[in-house]
Amino acid sequence: MPTVTALQATIERVGKALALEERQGYQDRAVSGGIGPFAYQGLAPLRGAFPTNAADDALTRIAALLGDYAILPPEIRAERLGAALLTLRQLYRQVRELGENESTAQPRYIGPPSRRRPKTAPVASLSPDATPAPSAKPRAAPAKSAPPGEKVAAPKKATAPAKATPLTPQSLVTALPYVGEGHALRLGKLGLRTIDDLLHFQPRRYMDYSREYLIAHAFFGQEGTIKGEVRSVEVKRLPGGRTLVAVEVADHTGVVTATWFSPYIARALQPGALVVLRGKVGQRRGRLVLESPEWELIDDELLHAGRIVPIYPLTDGLTQKTLRNIVKRAITACVEQMPDFLPPEVRARARLLPLPAALRAFHYPADDEARQGAIRRLGFDEFFLIQVGMQQRKQQWKSDTPGNAFAVDEALVARFLAVLPFALTGAQKRVLADIFADMRQPAAMSRLVQGDVGSGKTVVAAAAMLATVAEGFQAALMAPTSILAEQHWRTLERIYGALPEDARPQVRLLIGSTGAKERRAIAQGLQDGSIDILVGTQALIQDGVAFARLGFATVDEQHRFGVVQRATLRSKGHNPDLLVMTATPIPRSLALTLHGDLDVSVIDELPPGRQAIVTRAVGPDDLPREYEAIRAEVQAGRQAFVICPLVEESDQIEAKAATEEWERLRTEVFPDLRIALLHGRMRPAEKDGVMAAFRDREFDVLVSTSVIEVGIDIPNATMMLIEGANRFGLSQLHQFRGRVGRGAAQSYCVLVADEVGADAQARLEAMVETQDGFVLAQKDLELRGPGEFFGTRQSGLPDLQVAQLGDVRLLELARREAETVLADDPQLLREEHALLRERLRAFWREGAGDVS
Ligand code: ADP
Ligand code: MG
Repeated sequence: MPTVTALQATIERVGKALALEERQGYQDRAVSGGIGPFAYQGLAPLRGAFPTNAADDALTRIAALLGDYAILPPEIRAERLGAALLTLRQLYRQVRELGENESTAQPRYIGPPSRRRPKTAPVASLSPDATPAPSAKPRAAPAKSAPPGEKVAAPKKATAPAKATPLTPQSLVTALPYVGEGHALRLGKLGLRTIDDLLHFQPRRYMDYSREYLIAHAFFGQEGTIKGEVRSVEVKRLPGGRTLVAVEVADHTGVVTATWFSPYIARALQPGALVVLRGKVGQRRGRLVLESPEWELIDDELLHAGRIVPIYPLTDGLTQKTLRNIVKRAITACVEQMPDFLPPEVRARARLLPLPAALRAFHYPADDEARQGAIRRLGFDEFFLIQVGMQQRKQQWKSDTPGNAFAVDEALVARFLAVLPFALTGAQKRVLADIFADMRQPAAMSRLVQGDVGSGKTVVAAAAMLATVAEGFQAALMAPTSILAEQHWRTLERIYGALPEDARPQVRLLIGSTGAKERRAIAQGLQDGSIDILVGTQALIQDGVAFARLGFATVDEQHRFGVVQRATLRSKGHNPDLLVMTATPIPRSLALTLHGDLDVSVIDELPPGRQAIVTRAVGPDDLPREYEAIRAEVQAGRQAFVICPLVEESDQIEAKAATEEWERLRTEVFPDLRIALLHGRMRPAEKDGVMAAFRDREFDVLVSTSVIEVGIDIPNATMMLIEGANRFGLSQLHQFRGRVGRGAAQSYCVLVADEVGADAQARLEAMVETQDGFVLAQKDLELRGPGEFFGTRQSGLPDLQVAQLGDVRLLELARREAETVLADDPQLLREEHALLRERLRAFWREGAGDVS
């Protein structure tokens, strides 16, 4: 009969192997025979050793996660391993608690299988205290487990299905009573998979039902909220088969009519019902009307609550009420036992609410102040978890096996720079000096170079790679697409071409379309050292690409790559120096935060003599004139881009809209020109084909959705026309504009706005006023504030749900606290940091998908 200590040792042994595997970059070399079989066999002693099924369930889950580990690609491995580690940690805690509970008088033995309780009975004896370990806490019937005063939301009439696995924040939503597969599917569409997701689900807004919303206060032309009683309901059949429902709602100050084209409303809103309506206030025949407003029945519960109520984003088939009930059930069942992973002293210093209180107030705040407090706490959590994760990774890069200390050959670099047709800008020199300083250090470099489009990042990378090669090492340059890789390869061939033969690096290109013969030659050349620099796409990080001496790795347009790809590239060498280049300009304070795992250098100066791109904002009426301007450019031998409006609904709809626009331009507007089309539903090879053909001047105009390559260099293109410019963010507009103005000829950017609100107006004005990417980024941040500012998903970071990226103060606070915690306990090995460690892993795994 295994003792608790023995079981713990078993788990630890497997956990260590998994952690090692993680550190080694998921190569499946941590243990002989592979991680999958090792974990399975290693954990076998736990089978049946528990009085509950917890261990068996965990083992089954781990087996499912790691069974096919050997054949998985690295990013999936990372995800699976993360999940397995999490499961293992929970199991470890359960074992520990088991020991604590069964101990005192008796020796610490775990009972034989015969003592196992039936699966359905609550295992109440397991956890008498209310502290940490949610996973071991029993969930009794909802009514019993609800803390005093908490109303149970589940309707009493239905019989609750027996779901008796203990409810933990990690449980799937289906573990809640009355939540079946159908609901789970719909909740999944909102990104809600677990109870924890529900608890952290951000209300779109809140409604204060205790307030009076008087009809007399509703104004024509405004967004209005009213509260009143349904007086009459009229259902009209309209010609064409539609049904119009007109509902009269009154309070003591007046009457409004609300109309919907949905027969269902007539059943939901009966005379006498109390409702809240919200929508744009219109007018018909001198009376106020609300057309298809959002509506909600005020049931007893809301009325008596007399408090602020959340309004969630919805999806088809899920009503506000249902969703609210589900979230409420999650709160009732789990919020009190929600372990607070923030170390108490951090919470005290930052003056934050405890997690359960914050989560409660997040959904049902007593007042606005309480709501702010909740948002501050939850936003802090997100920033903090990002910071800790980033800083840990940075530490790890630096402390792992040391990298190479290069003796940078300045004379050679000077000779190279001398043969360039231009002199480096001051900013380029400064950044190159940063890089060389890093290269000379034995610790591996991790540096991000931020430079606006056209600031000349490539040549900086070229100089650094040359210095690497001069020391007898190899370098790699990875770009997000074939066409960009090819472009870099050409550039390198050209600029190294001016060097004397003996100093000229051997550069090769490896992309998806590279043939088998060339691949073999590359493999050979990498091994025997005859290839100095390999340029390519993700093909570079596939198995089978092996460098003899990789000393320097460059990743271009970093926001397309996840952290894992970076790590994999790195693992191809003996801890090579890593240079990451990005053209997404963000303010420095944010860069430090968002790229907390990297040191940051900025090329904040453009090469001299860059011409300004003539930028103008116009309306749809001006389009004919602008089309003529395009025609004139084409007649002068140049090319043009047309960007189609952003369509939020889906890629598919966007592709369809772009195809229609292309069709229209091709047949009606420019029947005499050659028009190409590019959209997000095309396969990567197709996209590359179109871009290459456009670059090679086989087309005059490229019609594209926003998928157009960042970084593509087509000097002959001089006109950028952006349709629906009001719908794009400032940073994106700036990226589009950066596609032109790359040659000698005057270039133009035309922003066509179909509808201009105040914010859009400010964006367009900023675009016309300045071409400085950093100024625009700052402006963008001011205008958009929230996490929208830039797609965090693109950056390989977990999504920020609650935190507002614009909240620099909170973000700085989180960074400082993360530093303090890690300074003390870099690996978070201390007992009091166990929960933080676990939360960190879950956060990064779920949030970024591709992050270790
Ligand atoms: P990005 O930073 O957008 O990647 P590139 O490296 O593609 O910019 O450089 C844009 C163009 O500017 C290239 O044609 C490059 O040769 C040129 N360039 C780079 N540095 C300088 C410089 N210091 N002076 C003049 N032209 C430069
Ligand atoms: Mg570039």
